[in-house]
Amino acid sequence: MKVITKPNITAKDAFLTCISKVKNVDLKTRLTACVNLISQAETEFESKITKGDIHTICKEQIVNGNVIAKELKTVYTDRMAGTNAPGRTIYDKLILAPKNGICPLCSHGHVSTLDHYLPKSDFPRLAVVPINLIPSCFDCNKYKLTTSPRKPEEETLHPYYDNIEDVQWLYAQVNHTTPPTVSFFVKPLDSWSDLLKARVQHHFQSFSLAKLYTKEAAVYISDLNQRLQSIHSSSGAIGVSEYLRNEAISRCAVDKNSWRTAFYFAVADDDWFCDGGFQIS
Ligand SMILES: [Zn+2]
Repeated sequence: MKVITKPNITAKDAFLTCISKVKNVDLKTRLTACVNLISQAETEFESKITKGDIHTICKEQIVNGNVIAKELKTVYTDRMAGTNAPGRTIYDKLILAPKNGICPLCSHGHVSTLDHYLPKSDFPRLAVVPINLIPSCFDCNKYKLTTSPRKPEEETLHPYYDNIEDVQWLYAQVNHTTPPTVSFFVKPLDSWSDLLKARVQHHFQSFSLAKLYTKEAAVYISDLNQRLQSIHSSSGAIGVSEYLRNEAISRCAVDKNSWRTAFYFAVADDDWFCDGGFQIS
């Protein structure tokens, strides 16, 4: 999970920009009257995120008595995400925020969409609120679907607010099979609160990261095979381990919790793997 700088666009500015070209007078009047309620939703979200209180935000289907959820969802789909939409510059600014375009939720996929932390179908006032919009890859967006937390432990990590980048918490272990496989797991720090421990685990499970990383590791093992065989022939298991450890250190300098970092440390530490277990057949 990677941190992103929180966007400095207010919900009010984003919303007013998005609805700036609404031609239907009745719709424009009703939407404009929602501005304060949308700012209030932003304030509530900001005050509750990371405190384990996001799940207490109420779902709603009608806003301000006369705007239905579908109308606010359409403000996002047609007036923010749509090509040439008035809010498209805001959409693009949000989507381009992650370094190298890497999805902050899985630290692996490429960003292709914005994920609503709280889904717009149940929380229409947050449909175009920037702090509720997280750049995401297709798969992470798909796994999340329209689920929302029912308790503090189900609040997934939020890249604008949760920073656990400085310490290693993602680890891996080698399974001694032919071909070898690698399993990934979260090892929470003792210093983390019980809530943070639960949220990191829930995040890992919600986005099926163990499965994703194991699949990617299998490709890596295959790609590395010839190289490792060559090193093993000349320098034995010690040479293989040294090569893999250097790769781990290099990856760790960029991201302590990428699956590649966890992968390289795990295989470098595994005597069986380094002494020929790496062979895929
Ligand atoms: Zn992702």
